[in-house]
Amino acid sequence: MTKLLRSWVVSANTAETDFPLNNLPYGVFSTENDGPRCGVAIGDFVLDVQASEKAGFFDFDGTLQAPNWNAFMALGPERWAQLRARLSELLAEGSPDRSILGAFLTAQADATLHMPFQVSEYTDFYSSRHHAFNVGSLFRDPENALSPNWLHIPIGYNGRASSVVVSGTDIRRPNGQLKAPGSDAPVFGPSQRFDLELEMGAIVGQASEGPVSVQQADDMIFGYVLLNDWSARDIQAWEYQPLGPFQSKATATTISPWIVTKAALEPFRTATPSREVPLLPYLQEPGPMLFDIDLDVALAPEGRVETVLARTNYNEMYYSAAQQLAHHTSSGCPMQVGDLLGSGTISGPEPGNRGSLLELSWAGQQPVQLDTGEERTFLEDGDTLTLRGAAQGEGYRIGFGECTGTLLPTEVSS
Ligand code: MN
Repeated sequence: MTKLLRSWVVSANTAETDFPLNNLPYGVFSTENDGPRCGVAIGDFVLDVQASEKAGFFDFDGTLQAPNWNAFMALGPERWAQLRARLSELLAEGSPDRSILGAFLTAQADATLHMPFQVSEYTDFYSSRHHAFNVGSLFRDPENALSPNWLHIPIGYNGRASSVVVSGTDIRRPNGQLKAPGSDAPVFGPSQRFDLELEMGAIVGQASEGPVSVQQADDMIFGYVLLNDWSARDIQAWEYQPLGPFQSKATATTISPWIVTKAALEPFRTATPSREVPLLPYLQEPGPMLFDIDLDVALAPEGRVETVLARTNYNEMYYSAAQQLAHHTSSGCPMQVGDLLGSGTISGPEPGNRGSLLELSWAGQQPVQLDTGEERTFLEDGDTLTLRGAAQGEGYRIGFGECTGTLLPTEVSS
């Protein structure tokens, strides 16, 4: 396993930082004086990539002058590798360019982070075995928890790109159709079972026409983010048959602000678990396509300290993002630069590994105890949810930064 690579940005040379030289994740930031532009995180700072390109440190056909990473992604894997190699060189300890580049650094504390890419379309999957089993047990019964197709298909639904927001954006509790068990008719009102879903998001960096193989799909993926797929369980339970979730998932999806590239995650590749039934050939993986990334989610009631609700790992997935993407294209569905694929809630085998309150509170039957002495079955107004994640190297970590959002009360219509 590779070791910590040292940078002249001193805060990048610690075991605790999310952003050592090994990482170099891409984001979009603004300051008091300057509007949104591309940057790369290094230690406690962000390097202005737009200014660096303007100053002639590299040249990517002006794509880095845009306030998002889409045009750069479209250039393809060869150019992705070139920028990463150049940034690694420029930011390395002993770089002759440090005195000039020092002027292009902004403290992250002084930067506002924006959506790092324009989401073209958003698809959410359902690919964690433990999550699917838990939800199937709660929504149906433990005997038939996994639907007959689950071990053959990465199940997914087409979500809304328009509802994807960057970390730090407030979330409004939705209204919707709710039907209490045993009642004859639904009512319309605020969701009483508003929940989080701890997921990873894969960002498609290359367009496709027609079906692609799992290997081609892996090659098309530019990077990964943390993703919270906010979900209204009561709306979901009433609406989901026969076509799947709709309004229950359309309020908002929060992503972390830094795109951690697939290149940074290469040392942490790991295989999906052995298949319980053989997959059809078009879904078989030629190599390991998951990543060993520790994940957790914390809840802080308004004005109070946070409690870690669950800890899990991206290696719990039954299907990789590459398999999901290959399946997505199998119908001929074209993919676009900037498409976002949600992994599905990531739950592990133990109760403390469950990535949603639906599972943690077992549909509200077992309230979760917070460190503040309070309890939760589902989210309360004012709650702040924060996802964190990192791949753990030898003396360094590849972190994602925070994926956070606060739940506000339902808007009162006037
Ligand atoms: Mn989801």
